[in-house]
Amino acid sequence: MPATIKINEKDTVAIALRDLRKGEKVEGDVILLEDIPQAHKIALCDREKGAPVIRYGVVLGFLTQPIRKGEWINEHKMAVAPSPDLASLVWGTDVHVRLPHPRRTTWRGYSVPGQRWAGSRNILAITSTVQCCQGVVDAAVRKMKEELLAKYPHVDDIVALNHVYGCGIDVNAPGSEIPVRTIRNLMHNPNFGGQLFVVSLGCEHLRPDLLLSESENNPGNVIVLQKQHGFAGMLEAMMEMAEKKLAILESRRREELPLSRLLVGFQCGGSDAFSGIAANPAAGYASDLLVSEGAGSMFSEVTEVRDGADKLAARCIDEATFRKLVHELDWYDKYLARGGMDRDGNPTPGNKAGGLSNIVEKAMGSIAKSGSAPIVDVLASGERATKGGLMFAATSANDVICGPSQLASGMALEVFMTGRGTPYGLAEAPVIKVSTRYELKEMWPDLIDIDAGYVETGEKTIQEVGEELFNLILDVASGEKPKVEQLGLSNYICLLNPAPLE
Ligand code: CA
Repeated sequence: MPATIKINEKDTVAIALRDLRKGEKVEGDVILLEDIPQAHKIALCDREKGAPVIRYGVVLGFLTQPIRKGEWINEHKMAVAPSPDLASLVWGTDVHVRLPHPRRTTWRGYSVPGQRWAGSRNILAITSTVQCCQGVVDAAVRKMKEELLAKYPHVDDIVALNHVYGCGIDVNAPGSEIPVRTIRNLMHNPNFGGQLFVVSLGCEHLRPDLLLSESENNPGNVIVLQKQHGFAGMLEAMMEMAEKKLAILESRRREELPLSRLLVGFQCGGSDAFSGIAANPAAGYASDLLVSEGAGSMFSEVTEVRDGADKLAARCIDEATFRKLVHELDWYDKYLARGGMDRDGNPTPGNKAGGLSNIVEKAMGSIAKSGSAPIVDVLASGERATKGGLMFAATSANDVICGPSQLASGMALEVFMTGRGTPYGLAEAPVIKVSTRYELKEMWPDLIDIDAGYVETGEKTIQEVGEELFNLILDVASGEKPKVEQLGLSNYICLLNPAPLE
């Protein structure tokens, strides 16, 4: 196994594939002047203060001190390069690509009447309009699981879609459209079979009519707690509605479907410097295989791609998509500026310990998960996806906000790449975990589904790991349970709410 990896001809740094000791010789004639931790960067030449640090052939930043060949380069020795100016972006210069073709072209999913996307699971979801309902909804879900679920063997689960939004708000205030849209679209996720079940308190700002259409907003889909006789009455009403919905869901069956009916979300969390070498490029290859058969594939996390905006613009298929991209990136720039957010707040301390010095380096690794397909649409946070092909869903990079936002867009399952490791999961859709290095898979064998670390050791190619992931995506979409689903691990529904709270 080699000791280091250099990604691009132009790079002035190499990455340590394992913990390296002072005095070791790497990349031909580079003698290490100090110990270098795994995944960190090594200077390949002497450089003056102010010189660029180049990885992926891209300028990550500029040296804040002179550096000697064989030294460790980290965030303390470089200043981050500026983000690409949105006004200077050029679109459509990188859209003519030949995608690889997969061997498998079908999967077994649950169709939903009137919906393009099919589900990977058959779940009864109960949406609360406001946080005040959570205790009652949770109690009812416990009772339903104990007393009803076993009677409906074709239903996988019953989940509560609780959140902290709903009151102390102005639904017309700028920014409120994001949480409202996300909750509205979340309940239409294909894994819920088109069955609506909304629990309202009765006096909240986020009324059911703001979440449901006129034909949907009726007593067959909505229970108002303030109209029920005590807690017992609330439970009784919810159990009665659950039985009706469960009976309908019980009749659903998996069927053989083309990949064009599958929407997959990709995100990463707890990233390290290997994310961009192994796991994300392999995910990108899997995404290309999906897209070449007409599937929907979403990548997300605005702040993690912002520094590669020029690369995304070049891949936009038409001007309308490009305009949406600029609009979403510009909105996020202003949102962060308004909050006085330090651009170096991302990467996290864990990312930095994993060798990611700054957001430019993280962005280059993050974009790799989008593969090489052209971008056919850009979605606002929580907006429903309607097209097949690669889409950029402009969400927060926060794992537990990105996931629910992708669920609202309609994903049947999520693929999650991690270098440092996170037990993140969703109750609403299966999550496949891909580790960027084999040490993590060794440490967490019962949490990680696929190890991309074989790419670093040279035992497998990016394409081989990508194809393995593609096959697992289709197996999981067709019913196989990934590790975090087997363990029953899931996170709360967290929403991005940029609007004021009273
Ligand atoms: Ca994330």
